[in-house]
Amino acid sequence: MLDELRTNPSLLKLDLYCKGLRLDDSCFIEEDGGRKILRTRAGLGSGLELILPGGLWTNAPVSEPFAAKSPYVLHKGTGANQQYWLYRDGVQVSPVDLSPRPAWYDAQTATGKPMTRIGTLQGTYLGIYQAKVCEYWTEKPQKVNCKFCSVGLNLGIDDSDEKSVDEVLEVVRAARRESGITYVDFNTGHYEGDTYLDILEPYIRRIKEELGLLIGVQTPPHRDLKRYDHLKEIGVNRVSFCFEIFNRGLFEEICPGKHAEYGLDFYLEAIRYCASLTGTGRSDEPWVTNGEIIAGLEPPGSSIRAIDWITSVGAIPTVCVFRPLVGTDLEDHEPPKTEDMIPVFQHLYEACMEKGLPIGLAPNIHVSLVLLPEECRAFSSKRYLWQSAKLAVMKKVFGRQFERKLREHDRSALNA
Ligand code: SF4
Repeated sequence: MLDELRTNPSLLKLDLYCKGLRLDDSCFIEEDGGRKILRTRAGLGSGLELILPGGLWTNAPVSEPFAAKSPYVLHKGTGANQQYWLYRDGVQVSPVDLSPRPAWYDAQTATGKPMTRIGTLQGTYLGIYQAKVCEYWTEKPQKVNCKFCSVGLNLGIDDSDEKSVDEVLEVVRAARRESGITYVDFNTGHYEGDTYLDILEPYIRRIKEELGLLIGVQTPPHRDLKRYDHLKEIGVNRVSFCFEIFNRGLFEEICPGKHAEYGLDFYLEAIRYCASLTGTGRSDEPWVTNGEIIAGLEPPGSSIRAIDWITSVGAIPTVCVFRPLVGTDLEDHEPPKTEDMIPVFQHLYEACMEKGLPIGLAPNIHVSLVLLPEECRAFSSKRYLWQSAKLAVMKKVFGRQFERKLREHDRSALNA
């Protein structure tokens, strides 16, 4: 196992999600330029942001009780370069780097808010939880939040409720200038009247017009699916729908609000509809649809069926690993076992390659919260030579065009 962990950073990333990490007293994360551990909106962002060998960015659980029992301990080396090292059961496994904390993390907006209350880096992209708390948390007589979710616990602690367009643009500019972001991801919960897309549109338009960055939107599925044609027209590049669980009984039990409000079938219909928009409309921007699930909340076979369904309609699965976050309804649950997760992530890579899906094309996007499909290549013995070559060419062509466009925007926008 140790040899495998040393040579396969994808396995290390997965094993850390499942087992967590302890910090030795020699670690001085913030003093050494690392990122503070934030209880962010996304919930999964509760851990320590690290860069593993092979350029794999991750967010290792450190705050949850299961992490206190982890065989992994992070140590700071005593050599001249004070390299951080991961140890497992007392044996040195791998050097790691702290994900750099940019200067804007310690800055405030012109209105006096800490910039990290507007948005935070997750890996190398900017994540913004927009607007007020998801209304499943405030429903009467009984809240109907998803049981793994921490959004309602965190609100007002690390995120600001009110984020004006100007404030968001100020933070996006800082993140572009200092952190070189290429992608901004907006995330909202459920709001009565399906207002989430209306809320996001002014932010999306300004970022597109002024900075030309890639933009993703993760919200519940709007009841008027035609709204996604419009999102595509205004330049949105990614839509993501988190149905979390493919098993109907478990979906109803763990996501009572989503079940009552939209139902699993409507989540799936939104994914199918949005994936069918690829290649339509006037926008020349790239467009991908994601269906997001949480592996570890249902049997691995059910996660694999979810991956098959998502890829069958031309969408790309996003597979999180269940993390029993402190304070949530599932805080006493165990995280999944690494060995149960390997077949799921192997299947994620193979299903995407077999369906010819455009994975790994966007430039400079390293995601810390999940293992991306392309990062799961190491779990498969299949090589997909033709498809890999095609993706490499597409990546090169898209990367060149996109970088050129971004440079043009940078010249005028970053000094605004
Ligand atoms: S929809 Fe569920 S997961 Fe999303 S913010 Fe609301 S309670 Fe949390």
